[in-house]
Amino acid sequence: MSITVNEHIKIEKIKKSKISQVDFDNLTFGQNFTDYMFECDYKDGKWYNPTIKPYGNLTLSPATKVFHYGQAVFEGMKAYKDDNGDVFLFRPEENFNRINKSSKRMAIPEFPREYFFEALHTLVQLDKNWVQAGEGNSLYIRPFAMATEVGVSAAPSSEYKFMIIMAPAQAYYTGDVRVVIAEHFSRSADGGVGFAKAAGNYGAQFYPTNLAREKGFQQVIWTDANEHRYLEEAGTMNVFFRINDTLITAPTSDRILDGVTRKSVLKLAEHNNIKTEVRRIEVSELVKAAEDGSLKEIFGAGTAAVISPVSAFSYKETVYDVPKQDDSFAKRFKKEMMDIQQNRAEDPFGWRYPIA
Ligand SMILES: *Cc1c(COP(=O)(O)O)cnc(C)c1O
Repeated sequence: MSITVNEHIKIEKIKKSKISQVDFDNLTFGQNFTDYMFECDYKDGKWYNPTIKPYGNLTLSPATKVFHYGQAVFEGMKAYKDDNGDVFLFRPEENFNRINKSSKRMAIPEFPREYFFEALHTLVQLDKNWVQAGEGNSLYIRPFAMATEVGVSAAPSSEYKFMIIMAPAQAYYTGDVRVVIAEHFSRSADGGVGFAKAAGNYGAQFYPTNLAREKGFQQVIWTDANEHRYLEEAGTMNVFFRINDTLITAPTSDRILDGVTRKSVLKLAEHNNIKTEVRRIEVSELVKAAEDGSLKEIFGAGTAAVISPVSAFSYKETVYDVPKQDDSFAKRFKKEMMDIQQNRAEDPFGWRYPIA
């Protein structure tokens, strides 16, 4: 569905850039924001007043619905700069479609394509200096939508705000990721909102993830809520298992987020003639593969870190080490994906999206 728009995005210029205050060699992910942001409001059935303005605080009533009912969705995407200074997005169409899919599930009105892409283009152009060239550097882009009607009645909001903020990011080194396989808690359930990038999906993961942290693990691999029998995803990343030379990942469903990185890894695997299986995988199959040595790799796939190799997993009080591979699939996919993102390689799939 395409929604017609009849306003152009207004631009309020900054007085002075704050870029000189930022130490680009020591960035903490998601802490420093660029000079500009995008803001657009919804009321009486229409998105209106699309504006790019200096990044700054919002003033909202404490009774604003998003604070009480969590009616909010978001996206995560990146812009990259090549050595000629040209800037690219990576498959932004996927993020546009997905935020509207998430919004629909959360009863938030869909956002118009024209505004989304015009806002991205204009923002990234205005903040072009914040996109640094060089291996692993990027500009993290966070579109989000939230309920802004004032009032605590438990009904969908009649007013919303759609915004885009952006933060420079460096190569995201996750170190050795050790994971716990969920045996008790669940992230999502059949018929629920697991497939949506709904804000509350993250809030609900923090407590079980903290428990995992206390035991020396960084993340949880979620299993199906009914039986905790099938491996699903890591909650900010989709997960791949390499058994011998076959790459296995769970099929997407209403419990599992349809990641752009996951989709891209599957495509690259096909391109590299690597055998892939998109199917349900039981925890017992993983344990057995770890015991008999056929488990070669586990890695997560998501926009923030691209690919994160997993070095160990814990299940029923036993810790299983995942062997280190010299020529790992993880390394290969990360390199191929980043070479496409940063315009160092051919783009046979048409994933790069130039910002003129
Ligand atoms: C965002 C997200 C991912 C990764 O998706 P990408 O499009 O690859 O960044 C995976 N799982 C969940 C739950 C997510 O929210």
